[in-house]
Amino acid sequence: MAKVLVFADIKQGELKGSTAELLSKARSMGAETAVVAVGNNLDGLLPSLADAGSDTQYIADDAGLEVFSAGPYAAAVADAAGQFGADLVWFGFSESGKTLAPRVAAQLNAACATEITDINWEGGQGEITRPAIANKVMQRVKINTDKLVAVVRAGAFEADPGISGTENVVSLTPPAADLKAVIRELVSDAGNDVDLADADIVISVGRGAKDQAGVDLVKELADDLNAGFGSSRAMVDGGFMAHNKQVGQTGKIVAPSLYMAIGISGAIQHLAGMNGSKFILAVNKDPEAPIFNVADYGIVGDLFEVVPILRNEIKALRA
Ligand SMILES: Cc1cc2nc3c(=O)[nH]c(=O)nc-3n(C[C@H](O)[C@H](O)[C@H](O)COP(=O)(O)OP(=O)(O)OC[C@H]3O[C@@H](n4cnc5c(N)ncnc54)[C@H](O)[C@@H]3O)c2cc1C
Repeated sequence: MAKVLVFADIKQGELKGSTAELLSKARSMGAETAVVAVGNNLDGLLPSLADAGSDTQYIADDAGLEVFSAGPYAAAVADAAGQFGADLVWFGFSESGKTLAPRVAAQLNAACATEITDINWEGGQGEITRPAIANKVMQRVKINTDKLVAVVRAGAFEADPGISGTENVVSLTPPAADLKAVIRELVSDAGNDVDLADADIVISVGRGAKDQAGVDLVKELADDLNAGFGSSRAMVDGGFMAHNKQVGQTGKIVAPSLYMAIGISGAIQHLAGMNGSKFILAVNKDPEAPIFNVADYGIVGDLFEVVPILRNEIKALRA
């Protein structure tokens, strides 16, 4: 039976959904599961770590681990992987996951694969699937090592609400502080915007919105639906949206239940960031816009007319 260790993705003291998604996948493969949580004051998280589907929880809990730091965090994950005898170590598609995976792989002498969307692992051997060339092709890659560290693409696996694990806590010795890099201050994105990576609905605005008034109009729709608000690169380059809101090949990769592309043409680089979404709705005045090739629902029309209608319909439905 394979042993899968999942890195617990914790943000502002809360366990993110990707942890349960990865543990659900591991359990569906019949694997033995464990989770490794690194941080400070993690006691409150223990029940949710087990509920997410892990049977062992490796905990590195120390004031020195309050702030993410690649060296000590990677050392804690590698320690847990060694104690558990993990064949597979999985990270969610977060900045910390992408930073830690290669470090942990080097320490475990394991292969490292990023952005995987599927995995088959039997008898100590496996194959992963991942997108390549801006999502134009899916690669199937045979893994020639008996251990694999992988970063799983957002939305690749679904959490099974029916699963749960058991509480079996193993405390790890906190790793020494990293003397090469010391984080002095964390400046977080101001405001209460819904995090694009976590949002169940993401609404993105493109050049069709023309200017700030158009962006604000689409933002109101996002606020109505408590959706994450993203954009194409054109609106970032135009100075209307912050870079951390860009969806696409050189921006964020999102896979919400519903993605609305408003005034976005559907360039391949944009599609690379959102075509894993479960449902895609596009609003574009050009019926030939490439976004309609990937959209489940398409509205051909002027967004300045369509968005107010959508807002009114949503209000009416809610009433
Ligand atoms: C290396 C590289 C990396 C890139 N990375 C990214 C990336 O990460 N993300 C990204 O998004 N792009 C990226 N791009 C840019 C990408 O190629 C496109 O230029 C960009 O996505 C276009 O943005 P857009 O769809 O908003 O604008 P446009 O392509 O100009 O499309 C605007 C659309 O709005 C429609 N429209 C106009 N007026 C209205 C209206 N009133 N109502 C409704 N529809 C209307 C038009 O019909 C058109 O389809 C990258 C490019 C390169 C070369």
